[in-house]
Amino acid sequence: MTDSAEAPLAPGAWQSATVIDVRPETANAKTLRLRLPRPSQHLAGQHYLVRLTAPDGYSASRSYSVASAPDGTDAIELTVERLEDGEVSSFLDDELAPGDELEVRGPIGGWFVWRGDAPAVLVGGGSGVVPLMAMLRLARRTGRSDLVRMVVSARSPDQLYYAHEIPGPETAVVYTREIPPSWPRPPGRLELKDLPHPLDPHATAYVCGSSGFAEAAAALLQEAGMAVEQIRIERFGPTR
Ligand SMILES: Cc1cc2nc3c(=O)[nH]c(=O)nc-3n(C[C@H](O)[C@H](O)[C@H](O)COP(=O)(O)OP(=O)(O)OC[C@H]3O[C@@H](n4cnc5c(N)ncnc54)[C@H](O)[C@@H]3O)c2cc1C
Repeated sequence: MTDSAEAPLAPGAWQSATVIDVRPETANAKTLRLRLPRPSQHLAGQHYLVRLTAPDGYSASRSYSVASAPDGTDAIELTVERLEDGEVSSFLDDELAPGDELEVRGPIGGWFVWRGDAPAVLVGGGSGVVPLMAMLRLARRTGRSDLVRMVVSARSPDQLYYAHEIPGPETAVVYTREIPPSWPRPPGRLELKDLPHPLDPHATAYVCGSSGFAEAAAALLQEAGMAVEQIRIERFGPTR
């Protein structure tokens, strides 16, 4: 007989998560810490669907990547960029508070996943850094930072997510519009010379950001010698 309290949730089942912390990541992004009914089985790079339902029954769901490393606990962190006219993101960032309940479904995704045991090049733009952060955190937590090289592109220092955590020997930050005082690189879009050098010929690249960013970054990785099959892409933004 199965004890229902211990039974795993069916894959794909909606679960009720409790918001246990909300903290600003930048002026227009917040990190939500959620407690799930069961320990999360997510892999670095996967996402959850978040569903909001209005009193009249109208509902909307959106995907949000897990920012926290897999750690076997029942807590996960999502970071949500607030879009001005965004139906779901503006509610999540403006209205949610600790104690609130949220419907989530996941973890989802089997392709854009890093299991922590092979060389990886992580290239993220804006909120695209979120799933890559789960990968970086996993690498650091397991003492395998040697496997990972990360390049993050942000508009300006105040738009960089996880600003206190990202710096390290395995990471580099590229600012496109504004740079911190004495920053060695002038502001500008990601270029070939910003990629890790030399690139591990056996590495898999994980690229995440808007469609435009993802295409540009993938083109640079190919210019640097990576084969198309080595490059995995996750696009966050609208396709147009
Ligand atoms: C696999 C996956 C993982 C994702 N992970 C994250 C994450 O970790 N953090 C995060 O903040 N977002 C993430 N997203 C994007 C997220 O799912 C939503 O698309 C985003 O929050 C906008 O939803 P909304 O309801 O607020 O906006 P909507 O009401 O759907 O759209 C409002 C307006 O914004 C435009 N728009 C929609 N999405 C974007 C976007 N991403 N960037 C710019 N303009 C947009 C629309 O075209 C529309 O004009 C992810 C998307 C995917 C597919």
